[in-house]
Amino acid sequence: MPSFTARPTLLLLLLLLLLLIVVYATALSPVADVGVIGAGPAGLALAHSLRNEGHTVRIFERRDSFRPVGAAVFLHPFALNSLRKVSPQLEQQLLQVSTQIHTLSFRTLASGSEGFSFALRNLQDAKQVFGAPFVAVRFWDMLKALKSGLSDEVFSFGHQLERYEPREGGGVTLHFQGKESCDVRYLVDAGGIRSRTREQLLGKADERIPRLRATFAVVDGDSLETALERERDDERAAATGELAFLAGDNLSVVTMGLDDGGAFWSQTDLGADPFDPIAATNEELQEKLRTGFASFPSGVKALVAATNFEDAIETTVCELPVTWTWGQDDVTLLGDAAHAQLPALGLGVSTAFGDVEEITEQIRRRGLSRDTLRKYESKRKISCAALQLMSRGMYYLNGVSANQN
Ligand SMILES: Cc1cc2nc3c(=O)[nH]c(=O)nc-3n(C[C@H](O)[C@H](O)[C@H](O)COP(=O)(O)OP(=O)(O)OC[C@H]3O[C@@H](n4cnc5c(N)ncnc54)[C@H](O)[C@@H]3O)c2cc1C
Repeated sequence: MPSFTARPTLLLLLLLLLLLIVVYATALSPVADVGVIGAGPAGLALAHSLRNEGHTVRIFERRDSFRPVGAAVFLHPFALNSLRKVSPQLEQQLLQVSTQIHTLSFRTLASGSEGFSFALRNLQDAKQVFGAPFVAVRFWDMLKALKSGLSDEVFSFGHQLERYEPREGGGVTLHFQGKESCDVRYLVDAGGIRSRTREQLLGKADERIPRLRATFAVVDGDSLETALERERDDERAAATGELAFLAGDNLSVVTMGLDDGGAFWSQTDLGADPFDPIAATNEELQEKLRTGFASFPSGVKALVAATNFEDAIETTVCELPVTWTWGQDDVTLLGDAAHAQLPALGLGVSTAFGDVEEITEQIRRRGLSRDTLRKYESKRKISCAALQLMSRGMYYLNGVSANQN
């Protein structure tokens, strides 16, 4: 029989053992049900969905923080319809920072001929027909709207995924550049066009295809007001709610005015070699655009002149080949990582939200499992492949119309 003094010692030992078990179990248990790679539109929307369905989620983002992005995107009604099915509140948050598109216009700038133009008006009626409006939104505003409601603990910034490793008995270990590895039960890679998981899944069978050179920027209301004062009547650019496409001289330019008085523009250079080096300085980029836009209406030139080039981005636009391999075991791809396409139809974000809608639907029906991931993939693959090919077709048509002079 243990003596009176031995009892507390035994109790202490038992407590210590219990503590060790807890520490060991915590170290072994996954940091979250789902590890999401990338705090882009796809990753953020998915995080809301997973949390709403009662799962823990951790977003691993290679950047050190959220940073403003000098670009804007156009969203089809089906983007908002998809988001509403994931979370009506999320749709409202995005709508609040978006500008509705009422007109879509297209014009070629053919020297020595009349050129060609058309305009689709009354697009504000799209809501009655499609259930949601066509909108445009600053990329940065969209990210903030999608981040809202997710607490800081959800994010691990400065975590660049290098590779994943399937664990025996289920789950995945994530290995990061210069950071400790960790385990998650499932991995969803929404890391966009440079997805490491996609590289790992497809190996040499996959490659990014550089297609064209693009520059895009957002302009604040005050600068725009000053720059456009003289242009308003005849050579107007960036009217609020008018998404305007102009093509000519091997360039394709998109402009639109936003509700808050600002605007965005983007330019795709269909003549440039996508392998050429990117402009080394803002001055070089500005000069390149000044020459490139020589034949464009003065309104467009004024818009570019009003741009703070700190906020402009020049980039090489790539697409990814269509693939039927989106995942394996506890791993899947989402958004651009699965189906990055040329931005000719402005479908990227809308398609990513479509993915989130489908995976949410499958989780609601079957819970979170490997089968759910496979079902989501099989439901999305064919339509996404069709959209990728349509975007490629539209890119060639853009090239044809931009060369008609
Ligand atoms: C010129 C241009 C114009 C466009 N216009 C439109 C438009 O009008 N409408 C539209 O819908 N779409 C448009 N797009 C496409 C749209 O931007 C993309 O489809 C969309 O951003 C895809 O979202 P995503 O979340 O899948 O990926 P991304 O937005 O690329 O986000 C991926 C995230 O993952 C992070 N990441 C990447 N690798 C790692 C890693 N290894 N580890 C951790 N984090 C990582 C990145 O830092 C990033 O934050 C355009 C694209 C371009 C280039």
